[in-house]
Amino acid sequence: MSIAIITGITGQDGAYLAKLLLQKGYRVVGVTRNNHSSNKSKLEYLKISSDIEIYECDLSDLSSVLNMFNLYKPNEIYNLAAQSSVGLSFTQPIGTLQYNIVSVLNLLESIRIVSPNTRFYQASSSEMYGMVKELPVNISTPMHPLSPYAISKCTAYWIVVNYRESYGLHASNGVLFNHESFLRTNTFFVKKVISNAVLNRHNINWQLEVGNIDVKRDFGYSPKYVEAMWLILQQDNPRDFIICSGVSISLRDIIEYIFKKLSIPLDKIKISKDLYRPNEINDIYGDNSDAKNILKWDYDISFYQILDNLIKEEIDFNN
Ligand code: NAP
Repeated sequence: MSIAIITGITGQDGAYLAKLLLQKGYRVVGVTRNNHSSNKSKLEYLKISSDIEIYECDLSDLSSVLNMFNLYKPNEIYNLAAQSSVGLSFTQPIGTLQYNIVSVLNLLESIRIVSPNTRFYQASSSEMYGMVKELPVNISTPMHPLSPYAISKCTAYWIVVNYRESYGLHASNGVLFNHESFLRTNTFFVKKVISNAVLNRHNINWQLEVGNIDVKRDFGYSPKYVEAMWLILQQDNPRDFIICSGVSISLRDIIEYIFKKLSIPLDKIKISKDLYRPNEINDIYGDNSDAKNILKWDYDISFYQILDNLIKEEIDFNN
């Protein structure tokens, strides 16, 4: 039986990826920083928490990571653990950079030293491209990160490329654009809007406070994006892939669609300059043709369809 380790198992993608790998017959080991305090609600929601072996590991500590590889010698490892919030990275830049970079170095050093046949997937991000000059973004687009989070992901990306080129490791980056699901943390835009709108749809005193909603982003669906992660590690030759929907949609359009579905008047939107980011990308979308042609990743859902599903799941959950 193939062994797959997933770091960041308690996060949105960790939970959906674990479900997919269990369905494919893997023995799944999920890594968390602290088993006692970690929140396994996403794994419980998907009814898979008892099927996963949880392993506690501090990815910023090399000896801890080496022990994990010595113990499991996994066939595949998916590195999803990260301080993943762009907003938080402005208030915790040092912690974000330290964790998101050192953890990747420790994982690749451990693979190089004790488990060179392990295939490695790194959760890279479209945020790396930042101030793009040409759209759509492809894997050769120059990087111009606009946040400490994005800088950490750029550095991690190049560490992966360097270990692949220097040591011949099967190490690949999946550069994912925003992807959502019911399991997304409430601090992220789409989940924040849907969960608050569903909870407050009959509350006349409620307002939705948001920052700059005229920016456009390429949004997709997490349960489909984790399929691309798996496909990337099934390739004979490691390489990096852009995973995205291929179109962008404005945050304003998303809010208006959700409000219309829930019969909420549009004057409930309150724009707050305090929520503007120090630096913002106006529009970004990617080119998913390599993922479709080489990985045979079949992604063909509009984001409005996804919003319909997410609104329904949120209402069902609250009933
Ligand atoms: P998430 O829900 O925020 O989960 C990240 C996980 O990382 C957490 O469950 C946490 O688990 C772990 N973690 C380890 N060290 C951490 C730290 N210092 N601070 C916070 N969490 C830490 O993220 P996700 O949406 O599943 O995304 C998975 C990965 O893909 C992340 O690396 C993210 O940066 C990247 N990514 C996400 C998107 C997206 O749209 N979702 C797009 C591009 C890239 P424990 O607390 O149990 O250790």
